[in-house]
Amino acid sequence: MIKFLDLQQINQQYAAELKEAAARVIDSGWYLLGNEVKNFEHNLAAYIGTKHAIGVANGLDALRLVLKAYIEMGVMQEGDEIIVPANTYIASILSITDNRLKPILVEPHINTYNLDIDLVENQITEKTKAILVVHLYGQTCWSERLSAIAQKYHLKVIEDNAQAIGAGYANKQNEVVRTGALGDAAGFSFYPGKNLGALGDSGAVTTNDDELAVIIRALANYGSTQKYVNKYQGLNSRLDEIQAALLDVKLKYIDTENKRRTQIAQYYCDNIHHPEIILPGYTAFSVSHAWHIFVIRTPDRNKLQIFLTENGIQTLIHYPIPPHKQVAYKELNGLSLPVTEQIHNEVLSLPISPVMTENEVKRVAEIMNLYNSQL
Ligand SMILES: *Cc1c(COP(=O)(O)O)cnc(C)c1O
Repeated sequence: MIKFLDLQQINQQYAAELKEAAARVIDSGWYLLGNEVKNFEHNLAAYIGTKHAIGVANGLDALRLVLKAYIEMGVMQEGDEIIVPANTYIASILSITDNRLKPILVEPHINTYNLDIDLVENQITEKTKAILVVHLYGQTCWSERLSAIAQKYHLKVIEDNAQAIGAGYANKQNEVVRTGALGDAAGFSFYPGKNLGALGDSGAVTTNDDELAVIIRALANYGSTQKYVNKYQGLNSRLDEIQAALLDVKLKYIDTENKRRTQIAQYYCDNIHHPEIILPGYTAFSVSHAWHIFVIRTPDRNKLQIFLTENGIQTLIHYPIPPHKQVAYKELNGLSLPVTEQIHNEVLSLPISPVMTENEVKRVAEIMNLYNSQL
């Protein structure tokens, strides 16, 4: 069986270093808000290219905390609108509604599956305060136009960078700016299955905004900057020392892992040829894509999934039900978002684990080419 993502094998590569890091924390007697977190935050900020990185408990909290901090700063208030792609993981939307802000769902582009930037300006009202871009499946969602729109209407740009650590955007000077450093603030997830995965839950916020960083840090620790003195009604959303120590080990290898993902994606794109299978659309192959997930589209994806399973290839669907069709969002169920719905009906994710062998990658492409939708 070719696994979709072999987490055991991924972490096995670094087992000695991970065990050493875990042992160091166990022996230290210090488990929260210590040097491991400080060190990881420092290295993450340096890698992304921002002034600040703040470790938090998970990716959803990272985004929730950014919006909550903007509310504390008076940048936005309850009932304000946040533009967000309709084609995203539910967490992007939950971070908005949890803060009693209103998600304005905008259709993605059918080629990139990312927010269609041409549709954004029409959705802006007096109440719009931010655009939450999602670098979905690992692909950077950015353009000069998006940044110009945000400036023109004084909107904050928040990046959901849960899936795209290591991807970037080549600006006009041809300098690559990493996702997480493109907007005003970004949320990261280190859920075990993400490109930089912890051995449990964790996340982070990156930003160049000093005030925002201070407030997020306080909000994530009961709204307090000084023990037992509470400035805000905060949460408990801290990054554990042990996860920080493990993440710091894996951060050193993120570029190598992403490079391997990119090679696999390149092989699939060069070798899968099938009239009924649509390969991912991309702009700049390696710069703008961390290849978190390799997503194809086909009219009868259930049939293709069964065929691949029968041939020993595990696939997943990201995602089967769009946020606006979820029972949790009854108020959005009536929206008509045909591009989003088509994507959710047709996508299938192929294995793209960085530990896949050459033969496994070859086999996936071969089997894909043998698929006959008429049988
Ligand atoms: C994983 C993910 C999140 C949430 O991260 P958690 O760490 O699981 O809370 C948010 N947005 C997107 C796009 C994700 O893929």
